[in-house]
Amino acid sequence: MQDDPIRIVIAGGGTAGWMTAAALGRFLGEGFSVRLIESDAIGTVGVGEATIPQVRLFNQALGIDEDEFLAATQGSYKLGIEFVGWHTPGHRYMHAFGDIGRDVGLVPFQHYWRRALDLGSARPLSHYSLNEMAARAGRMHRGGPITARTIPPLPYAFHFDAGLYAAYLRRFAEALGVRRTEGRIADVERQGAEVRALRLASGERIEADLFIDCTGFYELLIDSDFEDWSHWLPCDRAVAVPCATGGEFTPYTRATAHAAGWQWRIPLRHRTGNGHVFSSRHMSEDEATAILLDNLDAEPVGEPRTLRFTAGKRREAWSGNVVGIGLSSAFLEPLESTSIFLIQSAIQRLLKLLPGKTVRPADRAEYNRQTDFEIERIRDFIILHYVLNERPEPFWAEMRAMELPNTLSAKLDLFAASGRITREHEELFTEVGWLQVMIGQGLLPEGYHPLAGAIPETELAEYMDTIEKLYAREVAQMPSHADFIARHSKKVPA
Ligand SMILES: Cc1cc2nc3c(=O)[nH]c(=O)nc-3n(C[C@H](O)[C@H](O)[C@H](O)COP(=O)(O)OP(=O)(O)OC[C@H]3O[C@@H](n4cnc5c(N)ncnc54)[C@H](O)[C@@H]3O)c2cc1C
Repeated sequence: MQDDPIRIVIAGGGTAGWMTAAALGRFLGEGFSVRLIESDAIGTVGVGEATIPQVRLFNQALGIDEDEFLAATQGSYKLGIEFVGWHTPGHRYMHAFGDIGRDVGLVPFQHYWRRALDLGSARPLSHYSLNEMAARAGRMHRGGPITARTIPPLPYAFHFDAGLYAAYLRRFAEALGVRRTEGRIADVERQGAEVRALRLASGERIEADLFIDCTGFYELLIDSDFEDWSHWLPCDRAVAVPCATGGEFTPYTRATAHAAGWQWRIPLRHRTGNGHVFSSRHMSEDEATAILLDNLDAEPVGEPRTLRFTAGKRREAWSGNVVGIGLSSAFLEPLESTSIFLIQSAIQRLLKLLPGKTVRPADRAEYNRQTDFEIERIRDFIILHYVLNERPEPFWAEMRAMELPNTLSAKLDLFAASGRITREHEELFTEVGWLQVMIGQGLLPEGYHPLAGAIPETELAEYMDTIEKLYAREVAQMPSHADFIARHSKKVPA
């Protein structure tokens, strides 16, 4: 006789719910039943439109066709994020995906660049980033190099319509056998630290062995204290409104600093997503809304909507037999577009540590340890954007003066002294990501690796020059972002 299947219930059908459902549907075969409960009346948070390159791995693992997916979600490409006004008003830099320059043996490129800067033979860092050069030229390319075999890859991510993304994944997951139940969860039946069943408003009672809490800010199932990080990341509101297309169709996200926060700009095919993230202690909602509306490319589409949040995380993302995935488990402002990645990463971790009919505490502890490490390092990276500013407003002065997490201070001290950056274990952001933001925020290291000092001056200047020219030649051959999309657009299946 066959064992009863392991029953998994996903509560909530936003991006987190449907990404989880799609992945479990794809990777769990017989022996599991996957069911998702969502309430159309409650709806989803409806934002979350910029991603990082890892999302492509998620799609590939699911077997999703990229062109079809982008057409279905009105998507566009993203080569990085431009930060405007984060150092001083009007100042610009980019955190572009991909490498910068070329390392020489063991020595990372930034050490050669730093020395060349002293010698007057280096241009700004951006001139050695293929992604940034392509992004600034409004171009896009995928596949191998065009002009020379030595050209590095051009990593990219997507912008997409959050509502269409969840709908796309829903079709995908349902086709894989995930059962959807429409209804409002009215009650959570608990027994000790575990959830036994959910009761819907219709009266239906749904039992499971494992529950995934994807109810977003409602956090209906997860029962674990919240660790508040607002002393580091005080922004606690966002006003969001899409507008008609109008400005440049950039293959990058823009994050523009304002007096008490910042504004995102995410260009999609059919509209542009915008939002103003701000600290309610420093600015009223009316003022934040007025700033947002004054800084749109074109007419707003619909009324601005306010979202409230607190930066931080659950002490235990997996507690009892409930795993929180998505906004129910943690919130970090969308400055580096990390939330959808965190969903993807949580799903991957859960699949690796998947319990059977009962949860083993050791699996749960390992899951929580990995989750904490990952999000704490992302938190540090986000704080980094704020602390080195030289802006005049009180909000920014407070950000400069804050006491930093030790992990972040250590990174800053090391870089400031010798230009070195270390990435521990599976930290999400690479050395090159940290480099661009530290340099972009005006932190120039005092020294560099002694091996970078050993190369003759003329050779160093030539080396710098060659990289820049090679990349510029490659970018000149790439199609524009709009042309690239037109060439690769696919019909959306009915
Ligand atoms: C202002 C802002 C901007 C963001 N921008 C980005 C970005 O650019 N990039 C990025 O990666 N991430 C971004 N995020 C994060 C991203 O939006 C979320 O991580 C993502 O949408 C996942 O949300 P969710 O599925 O956890 O929650 P939600 O979308 O809120 O979904 C919750 C689900 O639970 C259901 N539900 C709730 N209560 C009940 C109930 N009682 N009964 C039944 N169902 C219920 C709802 O109906 C819904 O289906 C942003 C977030 C915010 C707040």
